[in-house]
Amino acid sequence: MTSLLRLLPHEIDALVARMGQPAYRARQLLHGLYREQYASLGEFTTLPATFCSQIQDEGYELAPAVEVRRVMSDDGATTKLLLRMADGILIETVLMQYAAAGGRSRRSTVCVSTQAGCAMGCVFCATGQMGFERNLRAEEVLAQVLAVQHLLAQRGEHVTNIVFMGMGEPLANYAETIRAVRLLTDVRAFGLGQRHITISTVGLVHAIDRLAAEQLQVGLAISLHAPNDELRQRLVPTAGPTSVADLMAAAKRYFHATGRRVTFEYALLDGVNDTPEVAAELARLLRGSGSHVNLIPVNPTAGGFGRPSRTRTLTFERVLLDAGINCTVRVEKGTEISAACGQLRTDAANGLAADLIPLASVPVRGRRQSPAAPAQSQSR
Ligand code: SF4
Repeated sequence: MTSLLRLLPHEIDALVARMGQPAYRARQLLHGLYREQYASLGEFTTLPATFCSQIQDEGYELAPAVEVRRVMSDDGATTKLLLRMADGILIETVLMQYAAAGGRSRRSTVCVSTQAGCAMGCVFCATGQMGFERNLRAEEVLAQVLAVQHLLAQRGEHVTNIVFMGMGEPLANYAETIRAVRLLTDVRAFGLGQRHITISTVGLVHAIDRLAAEQLQVGLAISLHAPNDELRQRLVPTAGPTSVADLMAAAKRYFHATGRRVTFEYALLDGVNDTPEVAAELARLLRGSGSHVNLIPVNPTAGGFGRPSRTRTLTFERVLLDAGINCTVRVEKGTEISAACGQLRTDAANGLAADLIPLASVPVRGRRQSPAAPAQSQSR
């Protein structure tokens, strides 16, 4: 069986036409999938039962993700969901909420996973340490976003941004990642503006070039973590033959192709890559690039790395700022709920998450109130 959430609107049009149904049936299907977020074909009461049977006979179904755990940070700004997909695999999805600049309503960002586990093996990452299980399909990425959209709709809010920064390397699952982006941004499907989506990569250069040629306006974030090859290969062992210079060149090509400057993610590890000397080297590397750097004091993980003190973090930031590099220390959110990628899943697997709120296998989609506003593009 194939999930209907996998189909792009033009593919739903083709399915409807193939079944000899009028074109407006496609609109009804898309409305039920993305606005009502029905969990089964039986809930599409506007559709004739014979048509629903036809859809099933063609091999299509709705396979909603099931929420098995939900945890919220003390300040309520971060919510982490552990979702079970149709084959039983467990996936993490995180909602992060921030006050938007200029007094506008707050930003609700969903961090989605694109793989179960990850093969990239970053030494400070819980997901990297659990190894690779399988790629997620586009519809499984959609299911994560819709799970969060459902949660937000109950508060009269909606998803404003999506970052592909959860478990896995999105560009190592290229075709499904791009299909998910197209589903999320098609105005007849989820309908989020392309500029409200960011894809994060550890630095797969060929895939970055491929993404640059897609004619998309999505943001790109490269996980750099070190300004030189020796240090980077210690932290990202699979970086292999891809040098820091290769990444800089790929970032430049992405900017020229899309007009969008690349953001660099930099996990700060206490005593490893957080010295003022390393900051100065990073500043020299990025000078003139116009890029933004996100400094991320690392969450404690099974890798045994420590988080730098506030003073060390601010000193690192100061060196970059004094050199004219745009830079922000990412606000730490949800450390107490294992918000680093892969931690909730690892905790659950190890039976360590006694503080998690257990949910009795609740389908995260189903008949429900329509979102107060559809997930439309919000200008920042
Ligand atoms: S940091 Fe990202 S790319 Fe690296 S192992 Fe973790 S999930 Fe994979």
